[in-house]
Amino acid sequence: MINAGVITVSYIIATILFILALGGLSNQETARRGNWYGIIGMTIALIATVLGVVTQHYTILLAALVVGGSIGLLAARRVQMTQMPELVAILHSLVGIAAVAVGYANFMDPTNHLAGIELTIHDIETYIGILIGAVTFSGSVIAFGKLSGRISGKPLTLPGRHWFNLALLIASIWFAYQFVLQSAAGGGMQPLIIMTAIALLFGIHMVMAIGGADMPVVVSMLNSYSGWAAAATGFMLSNDLLIVTGALVGSSGAILSYIMCRAMNRKFFAVIAGGFGTGGGTAAAATDQDGEVVAIEAEETAALLTGAKQVMIIPGYGMAVAQAQHIVNEITKVLRAKGINVRFGIHPVAGRMPGHMNVLLAEAKVPYDIVYEMDEINEDFPNVDVSIVIGANDIVNPSALTDPDGPIGGMPVLECWKGEVSIVLKRSMATGYAGVQNPLFFEENTRMLFGDAKDTLEAVFKAI
Ligand code: NDP
Repeated sequence: MINAGVITVSYIIATILFILALGGLSNQETARRGNWYGIIGMTIALIATVLGVVTQHYTILLAALVVGGSIGLLAARRVQMTQMPELVAILHSLVGIAAVAVGYANFMDPTNHLAGIELTIHDIETYIGILIGAVTFSGSVIAFGKLSGRISGKPLTLPGRHWFNLALLIASIWFAYQFVLQSAAGGGMQPLIIMTAIALLFGIHMVMAIGGADMPVVVSMLNSYSGWAAAATGFMLSNDLLIVTGALVGSSGAILSYIMCRAMNRKFFAVIAGGFGTGGGTAAAATDQDGEVVAIEAEETAALLTGAKQVMIIPGYGMAVAQAQHIVNEITKVLRAKGINVRFGIHPVAGRMPGHMNVLLAEAKVPYDIVYEMDEINEDFPNVDVSIVIGANDIVNPSALTDPDGPIGGMPVLECWKGEVSIVLKRSMATGYAGVQNPLFFEENTRMLFGDAKDTLEAVFKAI
């Protein structure tokens, strides 16, 4: 309906908008604008593709767009902030399955009459696209299961699992060779199906082997894979925009994985090799801590806060569960009005997805300039009078530093125990996501404020 020149220009504009979107998303103050660039870019890309690239079967296309769009809209409206990581994981799986479907459709397309080297290149594109797509699909489904607690966070460490992975890799290469060979002779479906099964198995095994503590890296890694799956689809369909967009997602996901690995002091290949961390969210196992915890009430908490000069707020996953961000902002406002220096310390893997805490605090309109990354404020704790740990656990666990062989050993944490007093808000003595007992709770200068973080903070607010 529209000519090739218009499509190309639309694609270039969309590409620029996607790059601007990524640029915008790198900073909280410009994130909203970045999102708009992304939305406009995607709208242009969709319109140009629907009107320019698709030439027939409009009814089917429209029906699919309406069904898919409605499901997406409904899911996005219904999803709780705490279920966001699971939603992201399951959306990655859709990119994977789409790449697999496009790969098969492309392979079976009767109008494809390539021969010689062109056919070989096309076959390799199809093979790689389906391979990455299938790994992304099954890996993301397992990640969804782990993040939503349907599958245990415990790593599945089969004996000889590295050899098993190696065998799967060698088999995939062998079937690639078979596929290219047979495709030239008019066949190839069999090796393609076998490889798909292998790739699905590999995705399942890879994510099953990864322990709770390494899940942040898995989330960003699957994000990256979904990008490469989309890029591979772009090659299959000769669609430049899809190649560029896929590459943008793939590389930004890879950079994010690197950042997450650094934040957790882990090596990327050690994460992929798996077996790190334990099942999460369990009741505290019999502890080797003899000490007792000291509980505190809301009134006393309010008195400690109003008597302080330097307050550090450390939010974690529990703040998301309790939806306590708004009341946190209210308390911050009153304390600042009293001349108290209130700051937020954000751990890179706090919550259940990269940037989780920043999103919540931005939603509650906490000023950006008092929100600090861990590296920026970790040395300031000796000067902090009161730290309030709101539903955070693993990210303030001193055993990460004292027990290098433990499930979170070696991960840098927010060292709040170095301050005057830490108040930990949580409902029970249960462990965090990595399933490790937290010696912070037993420190002499730690007080526990038990209860749902929103309820307890509302009581603290009233008392202030
Ligand atoms: P944790 O999961 O370690 O701890 C959260 C704590 O919040 C729990 O101990 C829980 O204790 C408490 N909590 C839950 N609900 C409430 C509530 N309503 N009110 C008060 N407290 C509540 O979270 P952290 O943020 O400290 O650490 C994040 C963990 O998640 C890390 O292990 C990280 O590796 C992992 N992870 C991070 C991802 C990311 O990308 N950021 C992705 C996947 C995993 P209780 O039940 O007693 O209330």
